[in-house]
Order: sequence, then C-alpha cells, then structure tokens
Amino acid sequence: MKYSIYLDNNATTPLDPRVFDAMLPILKEHFGNPASVSHEYGWYAGELVEVARERLARTISASPEEIIFTSGATESINLALQGAIHHSISTKKNIKPHVITAGTEHKATLDTLRLLAERGEIQLTETGLSKTGEISLIDIELAFKPNTVLVSLLLANNEIGTLHPIHDFSKLTRLRGALLHCDATQAIGKLPVSVETLGVDLLSLSAHKIYGPKGIGALYLRKSTTEKKISPLLHGGGHEHGLRSGTLNVPGIVGLGVAAELAEKERATVSGQLRELSKKFLEILSAAGAKFELNGPPLENRLPGNLNLYFPKTTSARLLSSLQGKVACSSSAACSSAAGRSSHVLSALGFTTERIQSSIRIGIGRFNTASEIQKAGDLIAELVQT
Ligand code: PLP
Repeated sequence: MKYSIYLDNNATTPLDPRVFDAMLPILKEHFGNPASVSHEYGWYAGELVEVARERLARTISASPEEIIFTSGATESINLALQGAIHHSISTKKNIKPHVITAGTEHKATLDTLRLLAERGEIQLTETGLSKTGEISLIDIELAFKPNTVLVSLLLANNEIGTLHPIHDFSKLTRLRGALLHCDATQAIGKLPVSVETLGVDLLSLSAHKIYGPKGIGALYLRKSTTEKKISPLLHGGGHEHGLRSGTLNVPGIVGLGVAAELAEKERATVSGQLRELSKKFLEILSAAGAKFELNGPPLENRLPGNLNLYFPKTTSARLLSSLQGKVACSSSAACSSAAGRSSHVLSALGFTTERIQSSIRIGIGRFNTASEIQKAGDLIAELVQT
C-alpha cells in the first residue's frame, strides 16, 4: 500500500524508530510482570518501569512518585476528573461540587463532565471564550463559586491550537482552594511543560502524540495537593499506589519514557521546524491565490504544527475526498470524525455551520519534510479553487 503525505499529526504521530528500538527487546524477551516480586522476571520488569517513570517525571519536572501510568490521556483525564469529583462528593456529602471547564476542551473532558452534570452529581460552568478560543483570567474568576472544587483546561487545543495561560490560572485556583487539571496531551515536545512552572495539581498526557506507542499515557498528581484526594476508577490489584489497578503495560511504559525524554530534548529544534513548515504551508496557499482564513490564533500564538483552515469556496467533505490517497488530514479531532460529528470546537467558537463544514485541520509533525509541505500545499491550493 502506498501511503499519502501524513498531515494529521494532532490525531496521532508515527512511532519514532528510537522508541521502537527501546521497546523491541521488552516485547521479545522481557515479558515479566512488575508485580511479580518473587523472581528476576518481575524484578527486571519492575526496574524498567521505574526507569521510565523517572524519565517521564524529569521531562515535566515532577517526582517519580507523582506519576501514574494509564492507558492514555482519555483515561488520565477520566481519573483526574472523576477521581477528584467522587472524592469530594464522598467527603463533603451536603455540598454539590462545582467544576469549571470550556466548550473547546477535548471530548474526554467535556463528555465526562457533561455526563456528571446531567446525572446531577456536579454543577458545571463552561467559561466564555474569545473568537480564537482564548480564556481570560477574568472569565475564570467570574465562573468561580464557593463550591468550586476543580478547574480543567487544555494547555494547547488539539483542533485550533489555542494556548491557555495555565500558570496564571493556577495562582487563582490555588488561592481559591480548587484543584487545577491540565490536559497537556498536545503540548509535550512542542511547548515547555513543567508542572512547577505551570503550578498544576493534575496533568494528563499520552505517548502516541509524541512519537510513542498507542495505548499508554500518564497522569501527574501533585503530591502536596492531591494525596488521598483522588478516588480510583479501576479497582483490583492496587497497582500504581492503589490509583490504577491492572497489570502494567511494560513495553508501552518503556516507550513512553523514551518518547518523553526525546520530546523534551528535541523540543526547541522541533517546534522551530514545525513553525517554519506551517508558515511555508500558508505562504504556498497565499502565493497560489487560494482564499482561506485561519481558525484559531495567528501562527506566532498557536501550537506549533497545528493549522485549522477555512476554505470558503469548498466543503471539507469534498476536499478530504479529493485528497484521499494523496494527503491525509482531517476535518476535526479524530474522535469526532470517527463518531461522524462535526467539530464541537469550531461550534463552541460560534462559527456558522457553513464555516465549520468548510474547515480542515492540518497537523504537521516532526517527520514531515519541506518537499511534502510543498506538494500538499500546491495540491490543496489547486483543489480549493476549482
Ligand atoms: N486530549 C487531547 C488534547 C488529545 O488531543 C487527545 C487525543 O485525541 C486526548 C486527550 C486523548 O488521548 P488518548 O488517545 O491517549 O486517549
């Protein structure tokens, strides 16, 4: 099968060969269960997990004991949100917890919180947004109530690349005694992600967005503010400090550790390269006379590599169908595309149905070349004018 030019790196990224090389011996030989404490198979697997935990912790300036391995960012987000909410409900029985988020968050956050609100378990506020998806400190301050226990926001949006000033929000949440969860899934390897600088209490991430394997992620839990304040979702063997039962995915964990270390080491170079390629892509469209508008903030203020473009003369369905076998990109997040829904993010920004249905997301990644960007840009410029 001949593959098209891959420009959907916000949906997932290819596995870095260095990550693959680190995982291969674990898949082939080192099959031990880290919970088997009576023999060398288990001891070695346990050592591998702890080395990966240290690697990941170092990447985000956390301590190893503050890292819990999960199956991906969706699970991390669910554990952070449901864990904090259910703990609050069980300890403060007469007070319904209030949670603050935004309508542009990933579905893992929105669907979880909206379901809990529908069931009457929480009060939910979705903050105001600018036309490009920014949230101001005032918006958050206005949303606060005496019973606010949790604020959950992205560091970088996966569809429109908007960045949130999480370090400013964390000062407020700390002052008001609420926990701050940050979904940093798209930001790792492209923006500085230090839990110290950001001041977050909980942070979710996933390996497959940083050239690691699928099905593995992690949740950071600040020890000083979250200890004994998060109830587990999964019960069983009591793995991961009792917060996430289930036999650990050792090859995945090793892959995540290596991917995270490489992502941080190469961040400055990679984000510069992604910004350059994004600029080049827009220049190609402009030079060819294509009519387009950028959804979300301007290039200098957005997640490197992410573009979301409105083409008034076509529809995304038509464009994506013409691009099949040539360029792989998408009309919205992979989970919305899979469910056949149009972008909830563009809709939260108040865009018309016509604009939403004529917008596509381009996700440029570390493995894309200037010549691929040229080819894809030329082709898209031609298609949107015919
Ligand atoms: N959060 C963001 C911002 C994402 O882009 C994604 C991936 O689609 C997720 C969460 C979910 O990640 P995972 O696929 O690891 O469950």
